Amino acid sequence: MSAGENGGRNQKPGTLVRRAALRDGVSRPVVTPIQPSVVYASPSIATLHSQYEGRTHGYTYAREGHPNADLLARKIDMLEGAEGGMILGSGMAAVSATILGILGQGDHIVGGNQLYGRSLRLMHQDLARFGIATSVADPTDVAAIRAALRPETRMILVEVISNPTLRVADMAGIIDLAREVGVIVAVDNTFTTPLAYRPLVAGADITIHSVTKLLAGHSDVTLGYVAARDPAHMRAIYDFAVTVGMTPAPNECWLAERGLYTFPLRFEKAQANAAGLADWLAAHPKVGRVLYPGRSDHPDHAVAAALTKGAFGTMVSFELADTTEAAADRMVQGAPDLPFAPTLGDVGTILSHSASSSHRGLTPEGRAALGISDGFFRVSVGIEELDLLIGDFDAGLAAV
Ligand SMILES: *Cc1c(COP(=O)(O)O)cnc(C)c1O
Repeated sequence: MSAGENGGRNQKPGTLVRRAALRDGVSRPVVTPIQPSVVYASPSIATLHSQYEGRTHGYTYAREGHPNADLLARKIDMLEGAEGGMILGSGMAAVSATILGILGQGDHIVGGNQLYGRSLRLMHQDLARFGIATSVADPTDVAAIRAALRPETRMILVEVISNPTLRVADMAGIIDLAREVGVIVAVDNTFTTPLAYRPLVAGADITIHSVTKLLAGHSDVTLGYVAARDPAHMRAIYDFAVTVGMTPAPNECWLAERGLYTFPLRFEKAQANAAGLADWLAAHPKVGRVLYPGRSDHPDHAVAAALTKGAFGTMVSFELADTTEAAADRMVQGAPDLPFAPTLGDVGTILSHSASSSHRGLTPEGRAALGISDGFFRVSVGIEELDLLIGDFDAGLAAV
């Protein structure tokens, strides 16, 4: 086709697939752009060599890393006092990549006995298939953790605050024990958040988050984060996660970044609400028992105060005086403005019933041993005005 025909060669329909740069100007966007590109073009083979060898920074393929994930990871690194952490597609991806990236055949891991449900499933069902032996023990009792150690133990995985009874692990005892015997301590810091506790700063080796919860904070994105003190551990986790494809999507990272900007404000407000709600519930005649680490009647109040320097968190649990499921159901239905859902960390307050959700896999006796009756609720406290919240609980309890 000559230049004269149809206005020239740029009119060839195939030209459409030639990508062009966005128009530049003297101003710049204030908000982080979303970079959806899966592939990144390098200018030469020599440059590509230097990228793969780590001599030059340049993205290659989004499963291996992309700018929106990196930006989010650097912000969480800053909160955690970490370096080089990574974002994964979910909190469970972060837990799984930590264990499967570092441990192998013949190794043994000790987990907390009240870990998040899917982490417990890894302990009880999945890891054995990969030749990794597991034990669970009570992390509030360092002697119990010590008793669970074996010569081949390589990792201890704990959560600082347990679900749903909000027991507080003896972190200082566990970290000292792990140093003594040369075992890695991995901490799922989701409930505590770096505003209450910073595992790496406290001497643990690995910190893990379900970013889905408080960090992103709006229940509209599923993501995880992990950072390790030892670059060799971080490399092992990264390589495993990239190989099995636990990669986060750029859009999700962008949403989580947006949520993260208000995280300290949300945390402060929700925590103040949690303290107020716990005290109000404790004085209510239809409530049998309240669990909040900030209250002096909590079994781990002193441990929590020392560990978190007074940041007792945003979770409150309570048990109705009537511990039947029928009474609990009247509570749920009497407070329709409180979403009844099995999650936490949302801007709004959320009511969960452990016996029918997170702990439904246990027998009634197994739940009783943990102190979870059919009248037991966990509350993820949000940022509403406290009197609004108390009105909802008042209505729910009136229906019981
Ligand atoms: C929710 C949660 C997880 C899992 O996170 P996902 O993002 O849902 O995969 C792990 N640990 C704790 C403590 C959690 O609350």
